[in-house]
Parts: sequence; structure tokens; C-alpha cells
Amino acid sequence: MLYKSRDEITQDYDVIIIGSGLAGMTAANILGRNSHKVLLLESHNKLGGFATWFFRDDRKHVFDVSLHGFPAGMIKTCRKYWSRDIADSIVQLKDVRFVNPQFSVQTDFTKEHYSKVLCDHFKIPAETVEAFFTHLASMNFYDNSSETNRDLFGKFFPERNDVVRFLMEPITYANGSTLEDPAITYGIVFSNFMSKGVFTFKGGTDYLISKMRDELLKNNVDIKMQARVEKILVENGVTTGVVLNGKEIKAKTVLSNGNIKSTVLNLVGEENFSSDFVQKAKDIRLNSSSCQVYMGLKEGVRIPHIGDLIFTSSHPVYEPERLLDLKVSSRTFSVYYPEDTRPQVENGRVAIVSSTNCRYEDWKNLSPEEYQKEKEFMIEETLKGLENFLPSIRDQIEIIEAATPLTVERYTLHPKGTSFGTKFEGLEVSMNLHKELPGLFHAGSVGIIMSGWLGAANYGVIQANAIESYLLTKASHV
Ligand SMILES: Cc1cc2nc3c(=O)[nH]c(=O)nc-3n(C[C@H](O)[C@H](O)[C@H](O)COP(=O)(O)OP(=O)(O)OC[C@H]3O[C@@H](n4cnc5c(N)ncnc54)[C@H](O)[C@@H]3O)c2cc1C
Repeated sequence: MLYKSRDEITQDYDVIIIGSGLAGMTAANILGRNSHKVLLLESHNKLGGFATWFFRDDRKHVFDVSLHGFPAGMIKTCRKYWSRDIADSIVQLKDVRFVNPQFSVQTDFTKEHYSKVLCDHFKIPAETVEAFFTHLASMNFYDNSSETNRDLFGKFFPERNDVVRFLMEPITYANGSTLEDPAITYGIVFSNFMSKGVFTFKGGTDYLISKMRDELLKNNVDIKMQARVEKILVENGVTTGVVLNGKEIKAKTVLSNGNIKSTVLNLVGEENFSSDFVQKAKDIRLNSSSCQVYMGLKEGVRIPHIGDLIFTSSHPVYEPERLLDLKVSSRTFSVYYPEDTRPQVENGRVAIVSSTNCRYEDWKNLSPEEYQKEKEFMIEETLKGLENFLPSIRDQIEIIEAATPLTVERYTLHPKGTSFGTKFEGLEVSMNLHKELPGLFHAGSVGIIMSGWLGAANYGVIQANAIESYLLTKASHV
């Protein structure tokens, strides 16, 4: 059932899920489908978390916030844990472009085409390319290797900043990875994309989330939105439910889809964990954040096909740190051609979204006037960048606005507006949560690997299985 915002919840549950991001919703769907009594609580007035969208100007314009591209694995995940209908709406983005002072390349983002470009354009010997991909495929999460991305690229492509840019820049854009991050995180994410390319959801995020909501309700998941959980309850060292609007709701298990640091340090509280575990949670580094410029075109305006995803920069070389600068010259354009993205919408408008990585502190520390000025600067720089592909774009735009890490923080409750959760060390804390505090689980963007649409959804699957095992063991002890 769908609770109204004023409804009081008086029943107990097997599982309470805090947060309806892709991890929380996927776990809810599996557990509901398997006949567990599930309550999904979402602070926002819509489901989806970062998988979200917004309308402007009486719904004439619709913007997807995080639907830029995900790996093919999402098809299998959706078919198995959601529905065939949802899986069948996932389609490939075939036209990914790089335009920067070092190279200009058009690709379908597959291993085959990447290998060809590495050999033909960058003149890397075929054996080296093959050895690189073989090395990525052999990487094992459990190896505990200390190899960093810098080591990895240094080994295969020494002194080739252009090649590193081609291989690494899209992943840096996607999840904020740097050359100092563990190579395993790059290996997993990049290999996921390279298996078949980049995919999107035909119909738009709103369409996807409405289908997911229907599926959750069909599987008897109770849902309440505008329901911000204040506390996770702990009695005698075991999780027993949550506090919502000052009232306790009891449950055998709780799965938090909120940020892992906030879950441990705020929702539960330090006093319920060992000091060693608390320290590990405090030491988790958050990932960087991002800015977006959303542009909606006038009614009836159509543009030439300039690509689906365009990684563009005027910066001479690849420098991951510079990608975070306030005065950045590198950005990704996602172009949403209405006939492809939302064929179900009549007279859809073209939407273009520009994304840049950035640091929360750079925006947080600005005065209101400076903040406004920086936003205007960002919009102007974005337009200049876009004019390289679409010279008349200024006249064609009807609506344009910018979002910053502060916008992300306000809407999703993620500390410092982190768009991709935490660095690698967050995964260990997240996975060990239920060992420290029985009955409490976490699923959501952590460790780089478990973030993004596919990573988050798959982590929801992993944690749903862990919850089922816990419930089974608990039942056998009664
Ligand atoms: C601008 C941007 C672009 C992105 N682009 C892509 C992309 O192209 N491809 C891709 O794969 N990924 C992309 N991502 C990342 C991807 O969207 C996320 O990694 C993924 O959606 C996160 O899912 P999650 O399960 O971790 O939960 P989240 O999306 O983080 O959702 C958590 C939910 O929990 C709720 N919540 C938190 N605390 C509470 C509480 N106390 N009570 C109730 N509810 C609470 C929040 O309101 C939120 O709805 C992008 C992210 C951003 C920000």
C-alpha cells in the first residue's frame, strides 16, 4: 500500500528500508516479492533518489538528473529483479564522442572499438592492448592488491597522457575516480562498460521510476514518502526498528540506503558501535560532487545529431584534479533527443545537460552574491562550449539553469553533495555493518564499485540476500 504523508504506521515489519534510491528500491522489490513484510520510507516526495528528474514550465520541459549512461549489466539486473518490461526499455547509446586538444574520437564505447582506436589512432601495439584488457579481466576484488590507477596505466602506457585520458577520463567524469584510487575500482567499472557499451532507459527516468513503483506495490511493499527517518532503534545490541515523526516503528531488520557515514554516525549513533568501527566510519572519504547546467530548447526546435554523450575539454592534458576546478574547461554534454529519449511524449523538447565534477568546499564557501556569480559564469562557459557543436544554440534555448553540490546536498541528504557516495574504504564499513550491529544493513553508493545505477542496484540485490539469510537464521532460533 501507498501511505499518505499524514498516515500513521502502526504495524511491525520484517524489513524497514530507509531511502528509495536504486539500491533501496531493488532490495525492497526482492524482499517484497519473496513474501517478506517490507516498509519503504523515503524522505523526498518521490521515489528514485539520484535516479530522478524534474519538470519546468508546466511540464513542457523535463530533465533527467543522472540518466547519462550505465553498463549493459543493468538489463540482466532489471530482468531478474524487476520486470521484463523494464529490462526491455534499456537501449544502447551508440554515439559517444571525445573532443579535446589531444584527440577527437567517436566510439560506441565497446572493447572492440576501444581496442581498434588504441591500435589505429594511438599507435599502441596490439599485444599491449590485449594484455591491458586481459589484466583488467583478471582483476579480482578479493586479491587485496595495492595497485593504483596510476600504477596500472604506468605499467601498460607509460608517458602516454593522451591514452590515459581516453581510458580514464570518462570514468573520472562518471564517478570521480582519480589516479590514486585502487585500480580494482577502475578495472570493475571500466570492464562493465566495455562489455557492450553505454546504455540508457528509453522513456526517461520518470517513466522508469513509475514502473518500479507499480512493481513494488504489486509485490506488497508498503511505501511512505515525505518520511524522513530520524533514528534507527537499537535495543540490547540489536536493531529493532526506526523512529519516524517521533514514533517508533518496529522491524526485525533495517536496511539503510542513506549515506553510510550518516547511517553510522547520525541515524544509529557512535555509542552503539565499537570505537574501532566508529573510527573506520569517520575515516571514510566522500567522493567528489558535481555541477550541472540544464538547457531546454524551444518548442519544435530540432538540432543535428551531435552525439549522445560528448566528453569535451579545452584543457591541454588529462589532469584529474583540474577536472574539479571551479574554472573548469572540461565538461560532458548529454543530449536528449525527444524522439529517442521519450517517444511516449507528444511534442517533446530537446534537452541538453552539461555535467562537471567539482569540490563541495569551492561552492559552500561562497557568499550568496559570489554563488550567484559563479553560477552565471558556469552557464556562460557551458554555452560557449556548446557553441562549438551547435553555433545557434543561444537562440534556441528557452530555459537554462544550473545546479551545484549545494543543490545535490539539499535534495538527497548526501553530505557534501557527494554524487557517487564514498571512496573504496566505504565498502568495508558498509558490508560489515550487520556484523557490528545485528539486524542493520546498508546498501547504496559506496566504494566506487557499488555506485552508479548498476552498482547501486546490484548492491541492493547483495544486501537483500544477506537480509534473507539473517531473517532465516533468526527464525530458526525462535
Ligand atoms: C548529477 C549526477 C549524475 C549521475 N549520472 C550517472 C550516470 O550517468 N550513470 C550512472 O550509472 N550513475 C549516475 N549517477 C550516480 C547514480 O545516480 C547513483 O550512484 C545512484 O542512483 C545512487 O543510488 P543509491 O541507491 O546509492 O541511492 P541514492 O540515489 O543516494 O538515494 C538515497 C535515498 O535515500 C533517501 N534518504 C536518505 N536519508 C534518509 C532518511 N533519513 N529518511 C528517509 N530517506 C532518506 C534520500 O532522500 C534518497 O532518495 C549520477 C549521480 C549524480 C548526482
